[in-house]
Amino acid sequence: MNDALSARASADDLVLEKALRPKTFDEYVGQTRVVDQLKLYVDAAKGRSQPLDHLLISGPPGLGKTTLAQVIAGAFEVNIKITSGTLLERKGDLAGLLTNLKRGDIFFIDEVHRMNRPVEEFLYPAMEDFVMDFLQEEGPGARSVRLPLPPMTVIGATTRPGMLSAPLRDRFGIDVHLTFYTPDELAEIVTRSAERLGIPTEAAGALEVAKRSRGTPRIANRLLRRVRDFAEVRHQGAISQGVADEALDWLDVDRAGLDWRDRHLMQEIIEKYDGGPAGLTAMAAASSLEQDTITDVIEPFLVQEGYLLRTPRGRVVSKKAYDHLELKAPEGAQSNQGNLDLSE
Ligand code: ADP
Repeated sequence: MNDALSARASADDLVLEKALRPKTFDEYVGQTRVVDQLKLYVDAAKGRSQPLDHLLISGPPGLGKTTLAQVIAGAFEVNIKITSGTLLERKGDLAGLLTNLKRGDIFFIDEVHRMNRPVEEFLYPAMEDFVMDFLQEEGPGARSVRLPLPPMTVIGATTRPGMLSAPLRDRFGIDVHLTFYTPDELAEIVTRSAERLGIPTEAAGALEVAKRSRGTPRIANRLLRRVRDFAEVRHQGAISQGVADEALDWLDVDRAGLDWRDRHLMQEIIEKYDGGPAGLTAMAAASSLEQDTITDVIEPFLVQEGYLLRTPRGRVVSKKAYDHLELKAPEGAQSNQGNLDLSE
């Protein structure tokens, strides 16, 4: 199975990502509006010698949410403690991490929408008043004990902002959304990664990799490594446009940057649902892909690029998708500019 385009991190990625991760706002490519906003808030908080307000960063996987949190920690010169909503099973797990924080530290919770309710409720007073509330003893004699925490910043990352409860969302004073990168921005990232990894790459080769990376830095960095393998074995030369083309075709990443899963999903909706509308459960059943993979990884890009349309009754395959798959579109197949709405 070719997972070159999965935006989720593999073990291999994680090692390299550490080396390639931008450390400052200046090195962080793209997302200019978000970066401008955050720089201003960081400067303001530093000026007041206060920690940054709690921050929620949403956007599809691999777009730089963790990186941004680390850049902010670097700007404040504080430690960052990283965990994930799926790892915080009990209140005690969260309490253990919170008690180790120092004044101004950053507490990064990935997949913050996946915390369970008791853990989430334990986090509220920690965010609001920098305290932890414990119940001592059970039953009628129970009393609540309050322990203070140093002022700190919670940064939550989520691929599904719509799944956050309203009380949790309200506790984040700053809320930013990352969007897919342009090919030029990704080409800049690929070029810089190639320099750091010592991979000879021509500008046109970097741009070709960028164009087929689904707007996602993690994928761009991964494809660069796969293309390098191909170039070393078959060509022994720099990554030119021609080498990149050949390698990416060989990796089954098409000219639009779509892989077999994208094409398979669209094809199944066409074959089994006449192009839709199809609900999420129906799409998962038809394609044998996991629902989470469809909503978090596959669908956002297909919607943004206008291959899939979101309608109140489900997803519909657009004329652009029929054309891409070289299938005849039915009369009335819709097209649009693409809209990315992750709030569902
Ligand atoms: P997320 O947390 O959103 O899944 P990450 O922050 O882990 O994504 O980013 C994945 C990798 O992509 C990083 O290690 C980094 O190498 C690269 N990356 C992400 N955003 C940028 C950016 N704005 N500029 C340069 N590289 C980036």
